[in-house]
Parts: sequence; structure tokens; C-alpha cells
Amino acid sequence: MTFPEMKFSVKTLSLLCVLCASVVNAFSVDREAFSFTNYDLNVQVEPEQHRLGVRGKVTLRNDTGAAQKIAVLQISSSLDWRAIKAGDKPLQFVTQPYASDIDHTGALSEAIVTLPEAIVSHGTIDLEIAYEGVILLDATRLTRIGTPDETAQSSDWDQIDTRFTGLRGAGYVAWYPIATEVGNLSEGDSLFEVLSRWKARESASRVHLQISASGVDGELQQLLVNEASCKLMHEQMGRPSLYRADCTYAPLGLVAPLFVMANYQLAERPGVTVYYQRGHDASAAAYADAAEKIVPFITDWFGVQREKARTADLPGASAAPYESGALLLTSLANTDSNQAGLAAAHQLTHASFLSLRPWIEEGRAHFAQVLYLEQQKGRKVALDYMGLHRSALEEIEQPSSAPRSDDEVKRALVNTTNEELYRSKAMCVWWMLRDMVGDAALKKALAAYRPEQDKEPSYMPQLIAGQTQRDLEWFFDDWIYRDRGLPDFKVESAFSHKTMAHGFMLTITLDNLGAAGAEVPILVKFAGGEIRQRLEVRAKNKATVRVETPAAPQEITVNDGSVPESDIANNTFKIEAAQN
Ligand SMILES: [Zn+2]
Repeated sequence: MTFPEMKFSVKTLSLLCVLCASVVNAFSVDREAFSFTNYDLNVQVEPEQHRLGVRGKVTLRNDTGAAQKIAVLQISSSLDWRAIKAGDKPLQFVTQPYASDIDHTGALSEAIVTLPEAIVSHGTIDLEIAYEGVILLDATRLTRIGTPDETAQSSDWDQIDTRFTGLRGAGYVAWYPIATEVGNLSEGDSLFEVLSRWKARESASRVHLQISASGVDGELQQLLVNEASCKLMHEQMGRPSLYRADCTYAPLGLVAPLFVMANYQLAERPGVTVYYQRGHDASAAAYADAAEKIVPFITDWFGVQREKARTADLPGASAAPYESGALLLTSLANTDSNQAGLAAAHQLTHASFLSLRPWIEEGRAHFAQVLYLEQQKGRKVALDYMGLHRSALEEIEQPSSAPRSDDEVKRALVNTTNEELYRSKAMCVWWMLRDMVGDAALKKALAAYRPEQDKEPSYMPQLIAGQTQRDLEWFFDDWIYRDRGLPDFKVESAFSHKTMAHGFMLTITLDNLGAAGAEVPILVKFAGGEIRQRLEVRAKNKATVRVETPAAPQEITVNDGSVPESDIANNTFKIEAAQN
């Protein structure tokens, strides 16, 4: 299969490239000088040939303070540039491989383009582009750093194939052009940082995709795109038939465009559609039922569904799940209903609620999972589950790596692009807020949230503050507007004395050695029972609470696990003997 319309000037361009190769100075190029503000791409997919052909228009904006004459466009190394034009005029460009782990092949096919004139700071230019090639299963970026083949392939499952086609965007397969500095998996957070920068630069971009994919003879395919408002069409005129999707992301937000296509069967429920592979009927039904069952619970917390949730099967039982908003890609080879409920709580929250702020969008979806566990199995199981997230958090929030003052703002929940922070930490923050203001108040605040009105970082905190008499500014400051690390509670003293009529009065003084304040639960054990209390202890501060017990108090335990803390070794206090 060819893309005839694309081959118009390949010969001329190749020739030009040879000529200009020596002219352009590749190493002095600022690869992130330009952002893509608009994509208008016609994407042709040929599963039989594993082939992708793209032509269309992109708009580049110079984000630097100086005029730029050179632009860099990158696609996966398994794709080749065919043409780059501006206003119908072919442009000179050099192509070269550029090693970067932002693509599954571990490299990009880079076009270094000499623009017809220098683009002034903040100026834009429209380019017409064409490229094509094959996209096969490829986990080179992982295997070359020592990941075992099987693990690597279950992580990098993107490919074009008759059995399954799935292409995630930047970070997996650069099937649409990007412009990034090198991301290196063997260098700490390097890839993560490059990706975060890319997402931040592209979040306001508009993307229009016209995807057409040829089907497989004799099979009915399903084409799924991670934009719910896509227009989908199926043409059966030719052989094999053609599947089309017309999708606009405006703006792109936190999403990277992705599509999958396979011979899926459907399990339909009112709130969710499950696309599954033959033989996975029971698992798919289990997932669909588990999800449907918790729709009322999620709706009660996060509002009615904006869109129907979609779950699609991945090939290989160990394939790593991937989420994009309310679309979840996960293997349905063997789903148990517990796991399904937990995954569906997250997915349905995305289907109900939209925010462009990661700490709200993802934090709340993780919070929903803990709420679901609590409803199903009680607070203890919910807190144990949070504990799994917390250990990751404690690692990156150790006092030794305590945020320096410039980091306090950069790492703050409202600004962070660090996944552990906007997932795990944000989840804990939502849980603590709920413990402090109560379910009813938090639900009201969530119901009042409108993504289009969320212009200031303080928008969500103010909605919560509006539903309670409590002063929460200190909490927002320590946990949301800044990253002040974690609290560290210690029982400084505990005195008890017999009261006239009813047992004992215990006076507990808590010391918070950490730089973040919190309201922490306290458990007081006495012969024959226990009493729970909550105490607000500000950062680097002390607070006192009095607790009445019917019998002599024996032991105090601070923090039931609902407040992330840097050191929990000092949280239990034995009361030797009651004084009179
Ligand atoms: Zn999510």
C-alpha cells in the first residue's frame, strides 16, 4: 500500500537535503524553541502492512525571546519524513536520527528545517508536512537498559497490526510530530522532565485528527480514540472496509492523542462500554458489572457522568494498563471483581469530573478509589491501601531531601508535574480534607467546581473553604500552594488524673516536628475500650487536647495512617500509671 498523494516531491526534497546537509549546524539547534499550537493531520493506517502515513498542517510558535530561523520536527525513528513545505514552497531540511527514549524505538527521526524567514519571538508559521513508515512492536528503549524482553514488551505494547493496533502519543510512539530535547531512561527523571515540559507546552494546543484505517477482511473492527466527541464512520464499500474517525481536541489539556483498533466484542452497560477480545467474555462482563454497580456511588461524590466510560482490552495478560481520561486500556484476560471495582472507581471519576490541574484530576480519581475501598471494606482496608501510596511519598519527601525554598513552589501540588506528588500526595490531601470538613461539605465543594472557571490555583481551595467555618488557609499553604514536606508527630507529654465522677481526664500534648501542619487522629486505649480524638497541630508547633476515659488510659497512638508522616516510629506513647 502506498500513499500516492504523499510522494509528490520526494525526489526533489532528497536532493535538497543532500545539498543542505553541510549548511545547517545541527548541534547548535534549540529543539524546544517552537511549540506546536495547532495540528491538522490526516492519518492513514494500514494494519496489514503495519503502516502509518500522515500528511497535514502544523502551526509552530516561537516560544523563545529571539528570532528563530531553524525548526526541529521529530517523529518515531521507524517513520520517514517525505515533505515539509511552507505556503506551497518545499523547504530545505536535513533528517537525522536523534537518540531519545521519548519514543519506544529509543530514537526519533528528526527533520531540521530551514524556515523561509526568521520567525520573531512569539510569531508563528504554518507548515505542510508528510511522513510515513511502519510501527512494529518495539521495546528497544527498555531492553537496551537491561529490562527483560517480556517485561519490556508488556510495557511498550504500541504497534500497528491486524490483531491489535494501539498507538499512544509522545512518551510511547511519536506518531505525530513533536519537538523535544533528549529524554534518557538511564538518567533519573530525564525522560519524565522532557515529557512534562512537552505536555505543559502543548496543553493549550488544538489537535484535529482525521484517522482512516483499513479493516481486516472478514472481521468487524472497533476504532477507539481518546476523545469522546469523535465522529466515527464505517465504510463497507471497499474490501477490506474502512474505519474513520474525525476528532478535535480543543484544547489538548493533559491528554496525548491515542487510538486503538481491534476486532473487539462489546459488553454494554449504561455507564460503561467494555471492548474485549474473543475468549475474555467472562472477565469483560465482570468488569462491566463491577463498574456499573459503583456508578451511583461515584455519581454521588463527583457528579453525573460527562461521558460514558470506555474500557478496552490489551493483547497479552501482562500488558501494562494505560489510562487517558475516561478511557482505560487494560488486559481483560483475567479480571477479578475486586480489582475491577478499584479500577472502575478511578475511571468513572474521570468520566464524571474534569479538571486540567493534575492534582485535582488524578488526585481525586485516586481518592475515589480509597472511598470505594472504605465503603466496601471499611476504613482500615482503605488506610492500608493508602499506605501503599504513602511509602512512595515518604521516599520523595524525606526530611533529608526537604524542599528548598525555590522547590517549595515548584513542587507544590498546584504546580507539580511529578506523578507521585499529583497522584499519591494529592490523594492523601483529598482524604485529609474530607476528614476535616466532612463528606457533605466536600461533596458540595466538588459539585460547585467548573473547569472553565478554574483560572487561579486558589479556585478549588476557595470552593472548599466556602463550605466550612474552619480556617484552612494554613493547610492549603502547607500542602497545596507549597510543598512543605510531611509532618512528624510526637507525643510530648500525657498526664491523666481521676475526675470527680467519671473516670479519668487525660491531657495530651502533641509536638509536630515537621514543616507541614495537619489534623491528626489520636487513639487512646484504656482497659476495656478506646476513644478517638482529632487534633490540629500546625507545623513546628505544639497542641494540647483533653480526653475523658471511663478507665485508666494505657496507651496513646497518634495517626491512624490517614496523614502522611515522615517518621511514624515515635507515634506510640505508653502511659505508665494514672496519677491522682
Ligand atoms: Zn487517572
